[in-house]
Amino acid sequence: MPSSRAVLIDRTGGPEVLRLAEVAVGEPGPGEVRIRHHAIGLNFIDVYHRTGLYPLPLPARLGMEGAGVVEAVGPGVDHLAVGARVAYAAQPPGAYCDVRVMPATNVVRLPEGLSFEQGAAMMLKGLTAQYLLRHCRPVEGLQPGDWVLLHAAAGGVGLIACQWARALGLRVIGTAGSDDKCALALRHGAEVCINYRREDFVARVRELTRGQGVKVVYDSVGKDTWEGSLDCLREFGLMVSFGNASGPVPPFSPGVLGPKGSLYVTRQTLFTHIRTRERTQAMADDLFAAVLSGQVRIHIAQRFALADVRAAHAALEARQTTGSTVLLP
Ligand code: NDP
Repeated sequence: MPSSRAVLIDRTGGPEVLRLAEVAVGEPGPGEVRIRHHAIGLNFIDVYHRTGLYPLPLPARLGMEGAGVVEAVGPGVDHLAVGARVAYAAQPPGAYCDVRVMPATNVVRLPEGLSFEQGAAMMLKGLTAQYLLRHCRPVEGLQPGDWVLLHAAAGGVGLIACQWARALGLRVIGTAGSDDKCALALRHGAEVCINYRREDFVARVRELTRGQGVKVVYDSVGKDTWEGSLDCLREFGLMVSFGNASGPVPPFSPGVLGPKGSLYVTRQTLFTHIRTRERTQAMADDLFAAVLSGQVRIHIAQRFALADVRAAHAALEARQTTGSTVLLP
């Protein structure tokens, strides 16, 4: 039976709990494929899994995104063949490895014009940007020229979403944790970027929108930005909460939404959107078209060997990364 290096955790904690082990890799069962990775995506959700914020049964494997070549196909999988170049964002976790067997539902063919590294750098983050921009619409709709606010604009999801929103004609106010990051977000489609470690982003958003506020806030920072984000919305505006990089949003009363302007709040997760193969493929096609047309560039700013996964996690958590990070087997 073939084996693979894989990153495991036996307990939750800091990056030190990540360990590389040798695991057995079997044959794919019904609905499954075996993939040999050429690149693996690093995502903030991997940190939540490692710390236990999103609990996994232990011991657990980590990683939700990768790209590589199909080595074997199980019964009932008819959209993939041995030798296909593929990429995915998928559950269950387990992408941090050389070879894995996994459900084929969320595995799609990678177009010829895209590299394995690009595939691993854009599936989870890009499909997230896709549903945020295409699916999460305020009740009054979004038109070209409308202002939106996107936190962590220089991050993995952030840089993709900035460019895509710009291509849709939206006016993006980004936030980021340093002036260099702001400069990067501005080069990737943000019209304005606020360094929220230095400046009160609420006051600036109010000023930029002539006191009205934005139609949508895309907030993946969570605890630290929640209150301020609500105060950036115009009447009937939509708060899209989709992450907790600074910690989970504390419990709140829906009563606060009325006086702020009859606001809407939603908490989204990609995995609802990619429940079926058809939907995964449609969203991936949309993402690939955006990238192949040049509207969205995938910015891979960090590469780590798989064996250096602890350093990769430490960098992501310390806010030292920009754009996407890939692990190389
Ligand atoms: P990023 O590359 O965006 O990294 C996270 C960024 O969050 C940091 O670089 C940092 O940017 C910012 N941040 C703000 N406060 C903190 C803090 N206290 N600690 C660490 N980082 C902080 O990560 P990803 O692109 O992988 O993911 C972005 C977000 O989107 C994450 O919250 C993730 O969980 C979420 N997500 C949600 C999905 C969903 O469907 N719900 C799917 C995919 C991602 P800065 O220094 O500029 O503030």
